[in-house]
Formats: sequence, C-alpha cells, structure tokens
Amino acid sequence: MDRRHFLNHTSAILLASSSTLGWADDRKSKDKKKTEGAPKPVTTVPSNTPVKSRVIVIGGGMAGATVAKYLRLWGDGIAVTLIEREAAYTSNIMSSMVLTGQRTLASLSYRYDNLLSAYGVQVIRDDVVEIDTVGVKVKLASGTQLSADRIVMAPGIDFDTVPGLGTSNRMPHAWKAGPQTALLAQQLAAMPDGGRVVLTIPKTPYRCPPGPYERACLLADWLKARKPRSKLIVLDANADFVTEKDNFSQAFLGLHGSMIEYHTNAEVTQVDPVSMSLTTTAGTFNNASVVNLIPRQRAGSLVAKAGLANATEGRFAAVDVLSYASTLAPRIHIIGDASATTQPKAGHIANQEAKTCADAIVRGLAGLQPDPAPVTNSACYSTITMSQASWLTAVFQYDPASASMKTVAASSAASIGWNKDNFEEMNIWFKALMADSFT
Ligand SMILES: Cc1cc2nc3c(=O)[nH]c(=O)nc-3n(C[C@H](O)[C@H](O)[C@H](O)COP(=O)(O)OP(=O)(O)OC[C@H]3O[C@@H](n4cnc5c(N)ncnc54)[C@H](O)[C@@H]3O)c2cc1C
Repeated sequence: MDRRHFLNHTSAILLASSSTLGWADDRKSKDKKKTEGAPKPVTTVPSNTPVKSRVIVIGGGMAGATVAKYLRLWGDGIAVTLIEREAAYTSNIMSSMVLTGQRTLASLSYRYDNLLSAYGVQVIRDDVVEIDTVGVKVKLASGTQLSADRIVMAPGIDFDTVPGLGTSNRMPHAWKAGPQTALLAQQLAAMPDGGRVVLTIPKTPYRCPPGPYERACLLADWLKARKPRSKLIVLDANADFVTEKDNFSQAFLGLHGSMIEYHTNAEVTQVDPVSMSLTTTAGTFNNASVVNLIPRQRAGSLVAKAGLANATEGRFAAVDVLSYASTLAPRIHIIGDASATTQPKAGHIANQEAKTCADAIVRGLAGLQPDPAPVTNSACYSTITMSQASWLTAVFQYDPASASMKTVAASSAASIGWNKDNFEEMNIWFKALMADSFT
C-alpha cells in the first residue's frame, strides 16, 4: 500500500460507517466499493421528531462524542443525552507536540456546541458516579438520576497508583491531555542543558501503542536542538517495542542513538519524587531532571464500579464486538479505550467502534440483529522528528470463529521510514478525524 493509497483508503473508511460500510438507509449493502465514493453524510437532524427511545452516553471523548452524533444521525426518534465532566474535550492526539512548543492546548480543544445545534444531542456537564446496569439508570454527582433504554460507557482510562508517588506532581503522566501536559512542558523548558529526562512506558495494554515511542522520538529531536548535552532515558516495561518496531528501532538506535538510552523489561516498582529516582525491574535510575511517568492503565473507574471490568485481569470490559454490549449487561455498551478487544486503544479505533455500536443500537431498538460482519480501521501517524512522521494502518474484520475483530493483513501496513510529506498528511488526517467526531 503506497502513501497516497493509504490516505485515500483511511479517509474513505473514516467517513463511512465502520460497521456497515454504508449508511443507515443502505444497510443491506456489503459491497466494500461503496465506501470509495461514500455518500455525503447528513449534517443536521431535526430536533422535533417524537422520542421513541433514549440513550445515555457517558464520556464525551473520541468514542462518546462520535456515538452520540451517529445515534442521532442514524436513529429514528432516539433521544441522546451525553454526560461529560469537562466543559470541553482536549485531544490527546497531537498533545506530545505541546511539549515541544509546536502546538498549544487551546488548539486541541473541542467544544460540544455542535453536537447540540446540528444533531440535537443533549449535553450535560456532570460526573456520573453510579450506574444501575439492570435498571439502565445513572446517578450524577449533582444528585440527578436519569434512566434510558441503553447506556453507552466511553470513560476512557484511569491509571494505577505508583508506589511512592503520592500526590506529588513532580512526575506527570501527561497521558490525558490537559494540565499535566502543560506541567510537563514547563518542566522540560525549565530543565538545564545536560539534564536527564526519564520517560516510562507501561505494560500493555495501554492507550495508544505507538504513543510513548513517538513522544520519545519527538523529545529526543527537541533536546538535540534545545538542550544538546542532555540524555533521554526510556524505561520500557515491555520486552521490546510493542509496535512499529522497524521504524522505532531505527529511530532509537540510529537517528536518535546519541540522545536515547533504551532499557527494556524495566517496569517501575517505586518512585521517589523528592530525589527524582525510580526503582524498576531493570535497576534504579537516579537524579532525573524531568520524569514523564506513564503508569499502567485500566478502564475509567466507573467501569469497575459498575462491576463490568471482567477482562484483562479486571482492568478492562469484555464486550461483544458486534454491538459493544458488555458480556455481563446486555443493555450497557462499552466503547473506546475502556473496552477489551483485539483492536488498539486509539482515537481512530474509538471513532470506529462508536459507529459500529451506534448502528447496533439503532438496529437493536428496532428489534433487529446487529450487522454480522463489521469492519473497522485504525490509522496512526508517529512523529519521528519535529517535522517528519511515519504511519501505520490496520483493517479489522469480524471473525465469527473467534468472535473477535481480526486483522486483514492485505489491508494493513506501515510506512518504510519517515518523511515530511507524512507529517503534513498527519495534520489532514487529524482534522478529518476530529471533524467526524465533534462537528
Ligand atoms: C500522547 C497521546 C497521543 C495519542 N495519539 C494518538 C494517535 O495519533 N492516533 C490515535 O488514534 N490515538 C491516539 N491516542 C489515543 C487516543 O487519545 C485515545 O485512544 C482516545 O482518546 C480514546 O477515546 P475514549 O473516548 O475511549 O477516551 P477519551 O478520549 O479519554 O474520553 C473519555 C472522556 O470521558 C470523560 N469521563 C470519564 N469518566 C467520566 C464520568 N464518570 N462522568 C463523566 N465523564 C467522564 C472524560 O472526561 C473524557 O472526556 C493518543 C493518546 C495519547 C495520550
């Protein structure tokens, strides 16, 4: 697959329904070619249609915003209430570039106004504190209680506590974009030339498999230009690069070899934010100037609280990937990073899972079965330098034998190396993805 083919291919799939490869009124079609000339999406939904059923969406991130929008676009008389604790969404995607001063957090901020004005999604700013998975009800921090026919949970991830860290903010994760990203950027800007930056990579599964490696490459490039006597120590809890090994190993050992010191099987077991040291399964690392500590991850805490974290040693939620219904509670659907599937925990996949889920709910509420053959696509660009990127894409198709999404090898590929064109195309892809989710 060449670069141009990759971009056309991912844009077409992004704009189409991941589930049906068609639109709500074209569900019978299973002809892949239809995605190539995907029909123009409807852009507004009448808000005065009679309500036939109700869906509550928890979390307005990549997965939640998308499912809310597409439930309104494809559903007939489905009232959708989106509950999100923040006033606006800050994209994690591209947020490592805030650390190098190439992006601002404001440029990564997405409001919810359009979901209301164009699609009639009711957006409530609140925190969901409790779910009744049988009665299909939620309780909000404000005390409000709401009920629905279905609930879609899209709360993203939470982090394990790291022994020794306590409430210190000296070792930010910056793995949920926002104040932690700003803090890490300040710490990097303030550190002396000749300092030691430590970046830790947690055990899989974690959010955005290439993300920590791309952040390491970006920081190495930035350090070379701004603080060239410094070192970047990467402590990987995994045995090897977990993805895109060809590109990342060439970048770590070749291009950035003078800057990066890479340790594998280095799981963090204890930290001391006062002395800025870390104890790991590969030894102790002292006197760091800056530590980007990315802890191990689990589904947003509400999933475990609802008793639905029944996969990956109780970290994530097992779902039926035809509908994203919990395997424990059929009217509760779980999408995005919080679910356990064979697909990567990534924003592009969250958008695709959201569409499969929206389609299945629309069908389910009409008494129909979900599409038996959903297809999803994941695309990712990685910044190898401050101006060059690589790419990786995968297509997944439902496999009835294993009841899971299986990679379609012929449609999956990675770039050989990295270049400036990929970096420019990354911006186009990002705009398309965010527009599809939030506008
Ligand atoms: C540095 C970095 C770079 C990345 N780069 C890429 C990339 O290039 N490509 C890619 O595809 N992916 C990338 N990702 C991954 C991507 O950001 C996530 O996979 C994606 O955001 C997951 O979407 P989500 O909806 O599951 O979670 P989120 O986007 O995190 O959304 C969860 C939302 O739920 C809300 N919420 C949680 N609990 C509650 C509650 N109880 N009540 C109300 N609201 C709640 C949160 O406030 C949040 O807004 C990157 C991630 C990082 C950290």
